[in-house]
Amino acid sequence: MKVLINNELQDRQEVKVDIEDRGYQFGDGVYEVIRVYEGVPYTLDEHLARFYRSSKEIGITPHLSLEELKQKLILLIKENGLNDGGIYVQMSRGVAPRKHQYEVNLTPELVAYPVPSKRPDKEQKEGVAAITAEDLRWLRCDIKSLNLLYNIMIKQKAHESGAFEGILVRDGNITEGTSSNIFIIKDRTIYTHPAGNLILNGITRTKLLELFKSKGWAYKEQAFSKETLLQADEVFMSSTTAEVVPITSIDGKPVGNGSAGSFTVEIREAFQELIKNATAAAV
Ligand SMILES: *Cc1c(COP(=O)(O)O)cnc(C)c1O
Repeated sequence: MKVLINNELQDRQEVKVDIEDRGYQFGDGVYEVIRVYEGVPYTLDEHLARFYRSSKEIGITPHLSLEELKQKLILLIKENGLNDGGIYVQMSRGVAPRKHQYEVNLTPELVAYPVPSKRPDKEQKEGVAAITAEDLRWLRCDIKSLNLLYNIMIKQKAHESGAFEGILVRDGNITEGTSSNIFIIKDRTIYTHPAGNLILNGITRTKLLELFKSKGWAYKEQAFSKETLLQADEVFMSSTTAEVVPITSIDGKPVGNGSAGSFTVEIREAFQELIKNATAAAV
């Protein structure tokens, strides 16, 4: 496997990371996961724009331009012969003797490599279980930071209770999933938490909102309570790797009739059509 380290492609075996990389010691960095379909990265520009925004928000200045990184990632996909999968890319603040404060001129460390990713067919068709948990994260959830400690704690809790995702609740309202955005449908209107500092504004979320608009489907970016979630007709989650996955039970209770909702199925199919068209246009 070829791995992008800063400006260079290296063999996986040759890659060395420094023990004093701040990403490793403090989670001081940002990341993205990009989906590749038929060798074509989906919404690469959007992911890179968010990557650069996240890094800017925490004061990391990338050593290469967005356009340069884009070309390197396309090369990475090509050199690995990646057809159907994903690209993980992270940038840490850099390497320095371990102390909390840092020199402002550190050179960031960039790493990108292919990760396996398959459309979760079974989950998309049958739906998944979710649990709810209090949202105890910090208040800059808009930054896709390497600090995922609380996210992983709740994801693990979900996993151990046989569920697929943890849905986070802050001040009684649903914010998002541990690595996904959450949507509900009530009386044919789709609701999702507004973008802002309380959620990570998913690229999939954004694409879905555009889709709803173009289809003329009623939607509202509006916070809703846990009670509203539990009384929704349909619930689904969205993310780069999951795309659109119905949530059919929450905390052990069925959502609606307990099977994948028909509107959710329609949304998933329309989103996959979007992917198909974008991919075909790029090949
Ligand atoms: C990455 C992520 C998402 C989903 O974003 P996509 O761009 O759609 O993959 C949602 N919530 C959190 C906390 C995330 O880290």
